[in-house]
Amino acid sequence: MGDNENASNSDFIRSKINDDLKTNKYNGRVHTRFPPEPNGYLHIGHAKSICLNFGIAQEFTGLCNLRFDDTNPEKEDMEYVDSIIEDVEWLGFDWQERMYYASDYFDQLYDWAVQLIKTENAYICELTSDEFKDYRGTLTEPGKNSPFRNRPAAENLEIFTDMKAGKIEENQYVLRAKIDMGHPNLHMRDPVIYRIINTSHHRTGSKWHIYPMYDYAHPLSDSIENITHSLCTLEFEIHRPLYDWFINALELESRPEQTEFSRLNLTYTIMSKRKLLELVTEKLVNGWDDPRMPTICGLRRRGYTPASLRNFCSKIGITKFNSLTDIALLEHCVRDDLNKTANRVMVVLDPLKIIIENYPENKTEDLDAINNPEDESMGKRKVPFSREIYIERNDFLENAPKKFFRLSPGKEVRLRYAYYITCTNVVKNEESGEIIELTCTYDPETRGGSSPDKRKVKGTLHWVSAEHALNAEVRLYDRLFTVEEPDAVKGDHGYEKFLNPESLKILTNCKAEPSLSTAAAGSSFQFERQGYFNVDPDSSDSNHLIFNRTVALRDSWTKKNK
Ligand code: ATP
Ligand code: MG
Repeated sequence: MGDNENASNSDFIRSKINDDLKTNKYNGRVHTRFPPEPNGYLHIGHAKSICLNFGIAQEFTGLCNLRFDDTNPEKEDMEYVDSIIEDVEWLGFDWQERMYYASDYFDQLYDWAVQLIKTENAYICELTSDEFKDYRGTLTEPGKNSPFRNRPAAENLEIFTDMKAGKIEENQYVLRAKIDMGHPNLHMRDPVIYRIINTSHHRTGSKWHIYPMYDYAHPLSDSIENITHSLCTLEFEIHRPLYDWFINALELESRPEQTEFSRLNLTYTIMSKRKLLELVTEKLVNGWDDPRMPTICGLRRRGYTPASLRNFCSKIGITKFNSLTDIALLEHCVRDDLNKTANRVMVVLDPLKIIIENYPENKTEDLDAINNPEDESMGKRKVPFSREIYIERNDFLENAPKKFFRLSPGKEVRLRYAYYITCTNVVKNEESGEIIELTCTYDPETRGGSSPDKRKVKGTLHWVSAEHALNAEVRLYDRLFTVEEPDAVKGDHGYEKFLNPESLKILTNCKAEPSLSTAAAGSSFQFERQGYFNVDPDSSDSNHLIFNRTVALRDSWTKKNK
């Protein structure tokens, strides 16, 4: 067995597992599971749970199952199953042959319910939902026994059989565990185990008319799969006595144990699946994989890498208290990863043309450019230079203040990997006053970006040769919400008014260096001085490239946490 005591990211769950291994609690076994309900796409919060469950299995030479918790046919769909499989795989985890569905256990779960009825641990209740609430009591007052609580087992069985056969209408009866209506924990006051739902299931079709509740199906599914450590988020802490009750009442041999940790909350982000679904169905975003979404597929499309998400999950750690994580940490993690792996290229987002008057017409030079200064092994590429180039419009100011080190009339700047140029003339639209192009001269002695006389130029600009430029569209993303905690907004639709109207800005007239003509969809680049970008799958051909900005260059996390 692996021993994790010296792991740098040890936490209370890993310590507990180490203790369990020492006492040989599960004969040295560590077996976890990731149990998504297929009622939506996975988000970054799920990534935390995936990294924890699969990560622990790896570290302790254990196993981790993927289990679809598909007990509610009304909200679940195969589309979600497929997306979950894709996302967990993409994150880099492997469940081998252990992909399961709670619906695979429906027969077993039914048999166990029959057993609970026979041992007088469960009964059929006919209270209406209003009566049910009334009998339930409150946090300060005990509940009252249902008048159906002492129905004889044989009668319970008969009705339950009819419920299963679809002979009874929805809401008329439920099967309840017989625990204690005076229990201080409301979840222990005879909770519902089965309800009638006459909706067909995405896997079992119309076979079932009754479906088990999560609190019943979950511990029993864990037990069936011989899970040792059932890890879930804090809101289930109060359900834990019930989790244990079912396992005890059925006298199961495989006795998994539930441990809770705090869920991930991120600033400027909503994480509730219901609200994410709303964003999609109300077309407030362009689908589940909109790069502004906190979904795994949205982050993937945005250019986040599996390593950056795993690294983020390891940095946030596992604790028992709820907190809010700064989204700047997530951005820091992807920047950190792409800095090492992404090739540098030059792309002008808002082009301003320059004519270099003393550079020969029809001449092209192929200049050497370094792909990644962080990693020499990533090599060099050629970038064409010619008489007409584009620079960034905001790299020029006609009336520049002293501290402006970029281009202005009479000033000299370096073109990255190319030459020093000096601005000699500004051409404007006579009517509007808008700058149309600049005239410059270049110093042929400065090829490659340095001068033999060592004269200093402060500014270095990125550029693209006009004749060789590829046309590109660039999509700039900002936070989807304008407030730190949009999820905290009460009410059903409250968060909508905090949607950031500037969260997507599309630039359609960008100019990219020609090396990008072969860039594959999904591949990431650092646009010099601009940030990290990836090729969007919407890109059609090499002259209509579409890029997403993954993240800007400036790191607000490192700054804040120095
Ligand atoms: P919702 O509460 O939005 O309906 P859920 O959390 O119940 O969604 P599931 O599909 O049941 O969604 O989640 C699968 C697993 O992922 C669960 O074990 C759950 O605890 C965990 N999980 C979900 N959201 C987060 C989060 N924000 N942080 C950490 N773990 C999470
Ligand atoms: Mg859930």
